Amino acid sequence: MFDCHTHTTFSTDSVMSAEQACETAIKLGLDGIAFTDHLDYDFPGQMDFLIDFDEYFSAMEMIRQKYEDHLKVLIGIEVGIQPHVIRESEEVIRKYPFDHVIASVHLVDRQDPYEKEYYAGKTKKDAYSRYLEEIYQMVRNLESFDMVGHFGYITRYADYDDRTLRYADHSDLFDMIFKELIEHGRGFELNTGTYRSGRPDAVYDIEILRRYRELGGELVCLGSDAHQADHIAARFGYFAQVLRDAGFRYTVHFEDRKPVFDKL
Ligand SMILES: [Zn+2]
Ligand SMILES: [Zn+2]
Repeated sequence: MFDCHTHTTFSTDSVMSAEQACETAIKLGLDGIAFTDHLDYDFPGQMDFLIDFDEYFSAMEMIRQKYEDHLKVLIGIEVGIQPHVIRESEEVIRKYPFDHVIASVHLVDRQDPYEKEYYAGKTKKDAYSRYLEEIYQMVRNLESFDMVGHFGYITRYADYDDRTLRYADHSDLFDMIFKELIEHGRGFELNTGTYRSGRPDAVYDIEILRRYRELGGELVCLGSDAHQADHIAARFGYFAQVLRDAGFRYTVHFEDRKPVFDKL
């Protein structure tokens, strides 16, 4: 198994060193780990999610060599997309030799669904639809990426009694996103960090996976979104079974931007 979504101290919001992450992954018996630190151009507010990629690659190459006998280390990135930063984000994606590229929506209309203000005056249906529309625009317009990050991001901090994101409530948008992904050989991750304990009590709607599978989709992976070592591979056993129940026999990770399948 691979954990395809993790953040090291190259991300402003992470406290986990790459060594700690590797030691933990080995202890847990993972086959590999993808480091996918944040790049978010023009992120509003105090936090800045930018990386010196020359420094990043030289540090990660050393980590890769250090652990090569025990763990496959993938050098990836999680690019936070807003419509006006697509071109400059794409330049970075193409410039550096990444293995695994995640494209995520962290901001909708310049607001972070992490903050309560995003939900003010919106019904759940409106708030979630706007989020999925942004994902759809991203998958249509971003030309170079491998996986969509965390559909469920919107549920993490949503201000509703029932936070679950359901396929049936947004079937048109999900279908549009899935068709676009399948046509271009891309997939999406099941972000287990969204459902780890201590988070709001959203559940994962397996119909999202079933529908993607039904349309011919094959590229799914598990990512913990760990920003600290004890979150690596969070709930992977449970979600591996969810994937099997939805009809998947393999997960995927990307090496040198090419899909490699791992038996579930
Ligand atoms: Zn993210
Ligand atoms: Zn992340």
